[in-house]
Amino acid sequence: MTTRTGLYIDGDWSEGASTIENRNPSDISDVIGQYAQADAGQLDAALAAARRAQPEWWAAGIQKRHDVLMAIGTELMARADEIGRLLSREEGKPLAEGRGEVYRAGQFFTYFAAEVLRLHGDLAESVRPGIEIDVRREPVGVVAIVSPWNFPVATPAWKIAPALAFGNAVVWKPANVTPASAVALTEIIAGQDIPRGLFNLVTGPGRDVGQRLVDSADIDAISFTGSVGVGRGIAASAVTNMTKVQMEMGSKNPLIVMDDADLDLAVTHAAGSAFGGTGQKCTAASRLIVHSKVQDAFVERLVAAAEALKVGHALEDGTQIGPVVSEGQLAQNLDYIALGTSEGAELLCGGGRLERATEGYFMAPAVFAGTRNDMRINREEMFAPITCVQRADSYDEALSLANDTQFGLTAGIMTRSLARASHFRDNMRAGCVMVNLPTAGTDYHVPFGGRGASSFGPREQGRYAAEFYTSVKTAYVAAGAPE
Ligand code: NDP
Repeated sequence: MTTRTGLYIDGDWSEGASTIENRNPSDISDVIGQYAQADAGQLDAALAAARRAQPEWWAAGIQKRHDVLMAIGTELMARADEIGRLLSREEGKPLAEGRGEVYRAGQFFTYFAAEVLRLHGDLAESVRPGIEIDVRREPVGVVAIVSPWNFPVATPAWKIAPALAFGNAVVWKPANVTPASAVALTEIIAGQDIPRGLFNLVTGPGRDVGQRLVDSADIDAISFTGSVGVGRGIAASAVTNMTKVQMEMGSKNPLIVMDDADLDLAVTHAAGSAFGGTGQKCTAASRLIVHSKVQDAFVERLVAAAEALKVGHALEDGTQIGPVVSEGQLAQNLDYIALGTSEGAELLCGGGRLERATEGYFMAPAVFAGTRNDMRINREEMFAPITCVQRADSYDEALSLANDTQFGLTAGIMTRSLARASHFRDNMRAGCVMVNLPTAGTDYHVPFGGRGASSFGPREQGRYAAEFYTSVKTAYVAAGAPE
């Protein structure tokens, strides 16, 4: 099979105005390919094609949309190994995670294939006799999807699947460091019997192609995942054009470890959610708030766990932590290590660049102790294999520290007390709360999103996704006089 590197616009693959080189972060001598970059004219062509195709897709009906989504999901799951390998090669997550991500992407499509059949409306009586009211959901129209590199197949899948399920057309701008995963997903969608132009892939730089896309008055909705800074700009563009917008951005997720916690489990969940995916997850546990009674024992075991993690080539057997995604991200991580030290935090392990058999962006997982919640390393999303331990003398203090953040995506508590767990669930200001579980790791059939600077607009995933990808219409019908 030929590996495509182009744009997919109006039902055709085409060359870009220019290309970028895509390299493997585990081995920068490994060139994955030269990937096309769209110009303004190509983006406009994609927008026009999407606008033309959308009514045909809506009119095709629910059985057709169900069948197409089911076919995409089934193919993703069947090819999870092959596409997962490509994903891991370009993004750097260990192969098992790459495979798992592609399989999960398939589940988003099969889930929304079923949701196609469940999009029921409501009937209401009118307060005025002789009138019937129905409330139905219709597509919003053309949806612009802007996605990040850290889940280069799953994140677009949880946006594209509901967009198509509910009858919309899509113009997708993926992250520029993971174009191969974007092309692989697009090939599967393009292989379906769908209207020309219904689905379009426009790769290119965010500040250029992405900006033009979100500024366009020819889109009806924007779904974005990425950084808070870019998100703020997108929200401003959306308000200017009155475009519906949904955004999932960063976080600074706390994991509270109480004095009655199972410490081994707490260490496993803390290390897993802090360092899994090289810490490049919006759900990563980056603030570990530990009761002072168990602080020393917890920190000692956490450092041992961090040091035992095998950092290496994403495709090598036994690798638990792959490389950082790019040179720029690695440089930013190392700056955060220097910042934490200068703020007075104690670096207990890791934090340096690692040499491996191949030249890549490897970094040793880092634990900072003795941190305060007002330090920048506890306030800014680092998106790095770095976690910060801070002390709390009581549950109330721990909860107050956990809530003292501009973010609110996920939050966890490790405790054997049902009373505390319930209180935490009710009083933690976050979109997802976890009890005796890692902060990272969510299901595909329930809503996902946060509060504060972590999210903006309606929730993603599960039945709640219909809120964003559809528009509600209320119809008043009077029979009139019989003929
Ligand atoms: P960005 O927010 O810059 O990128 C996310 C997506 O937005 C990419 O597709 C990007 O394109 C695009 N984009 C960038 N600028 C614009 C723009 N002006 N208008 C429209 N689209 C744009 O995140 P980065 O990838 O640069 O990562 C930086 C930081 O963001 C990370 O360190 C992390 O803190 C956070 N982040 C959070 C994520 C999350 O899941 N919550 C995911 C990724 C990042 P391009 O790739 O071409 O720049």
